[in-house]
Amino acid sequence: MSKKQKLYKMVLRQYEQIQTKNQHQLQKNRNEIYAACPRVEEIENEIALVGVRIARMVLQKPKDTQLLLKKLKKAVSKLKEEKKQLLNELGFSEKALEINYICNDCKDTGYIDNVPCHCMKQKLIDLAYDQSNIKEIVKQENFDTFDFRYYSEEINEHEGWSPNDNIKKIYGRCMDFCYNFGTTFQNLFLYGETGLGKTFLCNCIAKELLDKGYIVLYMTAGQLFDMIEKQQFDNNNQEEKEDIMEDLLTVDLLIIDDLGTEFSTILSSAKLFHIINSRMLTKKSVIISTNLSPDELINQYSDRLVSRIAGTYIMLKFFGDDIRKKNQENSI
Ligand SMILES: [Zn+2]
Repeated sequence: MSKKQKLYKMVLRQYEQIQTKNQHQLQKNRNEIYAACPRVEEIENEIALVGVRIARMVLQKPKDTQLLLKKLKKAVSKLKEEKKQLLNELGFSEKALEINYICNDCKDTGYIDNVPCHCMKQKLIDLAYDQSNIKEIVKQENFDTFDFRYYSEEINEHEGWSPNDNIKKIYGRCMDFCYNFGTTFQNLFLYGETGLGKTFLCNCIAKELLDKGYIVLYMTAGQLFDMIEKQQFDNNNQEEKEDIMEDLLTVDLLIIDDLGTEFSTILSSAKLFHIINSRMLTKKSVIISTNLSPDELINQYSDRLVSRIAGTYIMLKFFGDDIRKKNQENSI
C-alpha cells in the first residue's frame, strides 16, 4: 500500500469514529431528554409525520396544495417552538436533538457529492506532514488572543515610530490578507528579530483560513528542507516524492516559518525557488517568516530567490523587545 493510500485509510477511519461519536452523543441526549420529558419525543414524532401528511394531502387534493402547505408549516413551527421551550426548561440547547457536526459542509462524511470535502483534504495534509497539533495551537494563538500590550509605545528612533504602532499596522495587514484571501493574490514576508510574534501571527492567519475551509500547510523551513534532502536520496519512492511536491505546490496557503535557521544546500535552495516560483505563477499564496534581514537573506540564498520575494511579497518588518523575555520577567 502506498503512503497516500495508508493516509487515506486512516482519514476514513477518523470519519467513522467521528460519526459513531456523533450518533452516541445524539442517542445519549435523546435517552436523557425523552426520559425527563416524554412530550419532546411526541413532538419529534409529530414533526416527522408531517412529511407523510403533506405527501398524502397533495395526492388527495392537489388543488389546495399551497394552502395546506402553509397550514402545515405553521403547525411545524409551533411544534418546534414548544420543543425549544421544553429543552430550555430542561437545561439543554435547542440543538441538543440534532447532530453537532464538526464540518457542516459534508456532515462529517468527508465527501460532498462524491467529491472529497475541504476538511478531508486538510486531514490528509495534517497527517502527511504531522501538523495534527495545529488545531490545538491555533485555539490559543489567534487574532482574538493577540496581545498588543507586549509592544512598547515608545518611539524607536531608528524606525521613526513605536513597536506598538508598527505591530498594529502589521496585524491589520495580516487581517486584510485573510479577508481578501481567495479574491486578491498576496504573499507575506514577516521578518525581524526572534520573539516578536511572527510565528504567532502565522498561526492567527492559519486559524482564520482553516475556519474558512482553506487548505493550509504549515512547515518550519527546517522540516521542509529535511524533507527535500531526505527525498533526494530515496530513489525508491518516486510516487511519494511527486505527491509531496504536488501538496507543496497546490495547498491554498503554504506557511514557511523560521527561514534561515535550517541547513540549506544548493539543491534545497533550488527546490525552494521552484516552490516559490511555481506558486507565484499559479497565484497560490505563501507566507514566509524569518529572523534574517533581507540583506542577510541574500548571503544565504540565491539572488533570484531574494529578488523574487522582494519584488512580489508584502514585506512586514517586526521590531521591539523580545516578548518571551518580557513574559519571563513578568512571571518572576
Ligand atoms: Zn467536510
